[in-house]
Amino acid sequence: MNDRQVTASIITVGSEILKGKIIDFNSSNISNYLIKLGINVKYHLSVSDNILDLIRAFKKIEKSDIVITTGGLGPTDDDNTKKAFAEYLNKKLFFDENLWKELKKYYFIKRENIPESNKKQAMNIKGSEIIENKNGTAPGLFYNYNGKYYFLLPGPPRENIPMLKKFVIKKLKSKKYTGNPLYEKIIKIYGLGESNLADILKNINKNCEIGYYFKREGFIELHISKQGKNYTQLKEMVDRTLEEIKNKLDKKKIFYTDNYNLNKLLFLKLKESSRTVSIADTICGGKISSKIVEIPGSSKVFTGSIVAYSNNSKIEILDISQEIIKEHGAVSEKVSREMAANVRNVFDSDIGAGITGIAGPNGGTEEKPVGLVYFTINIDDKNYSFKREFIGDRKRIINKTINSLFIELIKLLDKK
Ligand code: ATP
Ligand code: MG
Repeated sequence: MNDRQVTASIITVGSEILKGKIIDFNSSNISNYLIKLGINVKYHLSVSDNILDLIRAFKKIEKSDIVITTGGLGPTDDDNTKKAFAEYLNKKLFFDENLWKELKKYYFIKRENIPESNKKQAMNIKGSEIIENKNGTAPGLFYNYNGKYYFLLPGPPRENIPMLKKFVIKKLKSKKYTGNPLYEKIIKIYGLGESNLADILKNINKNCEIGYYFKREGFIELHISKQGKNYTQLKEMVDRTLEEIKNKLDKKKIFYTDNYNLNKLLFLKLKESSRTVSIADTICGGKISSKIVEIPGSSKVFTGSIVAYSNNSKIEILDISQEIIKEHGAVSEKVSREMAANVRNVFDSDIGAGITGIAGPNGGTEEKPVGLVYFTINIDDKNYSFKREFIGDRKRIINKTINSLFIELIKLLDKK
């Protein structure tokens, strides 16, 4: 097994997937884990809850060394994965008293009586190993079929991810059931199109695999990876390529981050500099503060925000003079400056940010088109104002505004 490439296939079970009601997240997530172990993923198969279809699916991918299924382990009539697997193996299911005891314990902790239908989940196949599920009632099942590994996992990601980490990966590692490992680094590059980036990276050394992943929120995620036997060598090659890429981006003054989300990076920068920020937001409707408070511990760096959507609320709550709004318009650099300074006073923060803009699809004029955004960052009693003209629908314009604000905040904090 060692020198041959180890293969795996993933079967996601559930008629809801085929009907388009849920998006199959499990296949891509599990693949990511397997690829890191150097396992070659051959097939993603989505199949209905029908027993015959399930058996056919097991037959289709029987050349794979590893098979992982998700879904269909619940207590209801349409949960058939175990039954189909037993039939495929030509084995009988039996009622497992120990498993039933464990299930009862789970309900006892929740202070509920166990429903009879859960008995179905205590059915087991002789010779299998149970995979504990700490976040639900559906236990998983591991079966070694003449050296082939089968893992049956429940459908919900919040249940199967811990099982994957705690059991599946350990099992694969312990059996040396892995191929050449993959070493990967990720960087996120902002404010640049894919073809422009390709031009910049044209002459980069091609020792590593460079994958472009387009994300909707205005950045390109670049995955630099290499697979091979010698981990130290892989790391060295990938890190060297990454440095080369970063140098090129630095020369062009292009903003990038390591594999952080911008809100996390902003949080770290604020914490590092012991500063607090407050936000006067119009165009994003509170989404900026919502992004900030996604990060645990944000109360240390964030004092508050005001969504001053109407002119009246700008005047009454943020104390912007009516004359300024009249003279410059609500979407203007001047108003964003006033908002930044005043919100800082309202919330007594070290930094204030004021954001105005037109998210569309209506409300644009020739002079002030949809996508026009002004924002100001007030820091150490100085104002830094920015004008942006974003293209896209309402959602994209809002997301680009947030990214742009966070990037300029991060840059200013880096300078100090
Ligand atoms: P349960 O005991 O929760 O019913 P189960 O193993 O029977 O678990 P399913 O009934 O197939 O799992 O799916 C339960 C839920 O898990 C789905 O409604 C969906 O929210 C989620 N889920 C299932 N399969 C996937 C998948 N491939 N990708 C993302 N989510 C999934
Ligand atoms: Mg179910």
